[in-house]
Amino acid sequence: MSQIADNIQSVRQELPENVTLVAVSKFKPAEDIMEAYRAGQRIFGENRPQELKWKAESLPKDIQWHLIGHLQKNKIKMAVPYAALIHSVDTADLLMEIEKYCAREERTADVLIEIHIASEESKHGFTREEVLELLPRLELHHVRIRGVMGMASFTGDETLIRSEFALLNSVYEEVSRMDLPFLSDFGIRSFGMTNDYRIAVEMGSNMVRIGTKIFGPRDTRL
Ligand SMILES: *Cc1c(COP(=O)(O)O)cnc(C)c1O
Repeated sequence: MSQIADNIQSVRQELPENVTLVAVSKFKPAEDIMEAYRAGQRIFGENRPQELKWKAESLPKDIQWHLIGHLQKNKIKMAVPYAALIHSVDTADLLMEIEKYCAREERTADVLIEIHIASEESKHGFTREEVLELLPRLELHHVRIRGVMGMASFTGDETLIRSEFALLNSVYEEVSRMDLPFLSDFGIRSFGMTNDYRIAVEMGSNMVRIGTKIFGPRDTRL
């Protein structure tokens, strides 16, 4: 068995039945993705719209592509038609632009709301207060908010990681209680990466995004 197939299998064995595995293939060539595909993996995560688009166009059609990286408004038309789920909606402006695009194209988009949970400034996302204030004011007819996404600080401090995931869980719970039409399929908690997915699963994540542990280190100079 190939190394990638091996890695996929060992990750899968660790995940409870209800946890969806997104294999993060950013910066990785088509051959690597096909190895994972042959091992049965069908959901892949990319962080750049352009890369997602060419991979979606050239790889098997039964792959579900997830956009997990920051999305700029001018790239919406490159991402929405190819992404089954966009994890990284991080501003009201972006949300409204996706709504407008989908209305024009007569389609719908499934998205997650990215919550800023890390103590690091560099990460994107809404604060808890912003989300609670924003959602009740929204009118969305072409965008379905399916859940929340977050990235913990990159640290070995497990206590800190746990407190950040706990914040994400509490925002999730609060939004779950809102009765809004675009939240009718709300249920995804996307958190956990190579370094913290075990903690994430323990804390109730039902979608983990794992790259390095499956495909090995990335050469981001490509
Ligand atoms: C790259 C990336 C991942 C995967 O990270 P690994 O540490 O390689 O598992 C997960 N989520 C997001 C948003 C990413 O950008």
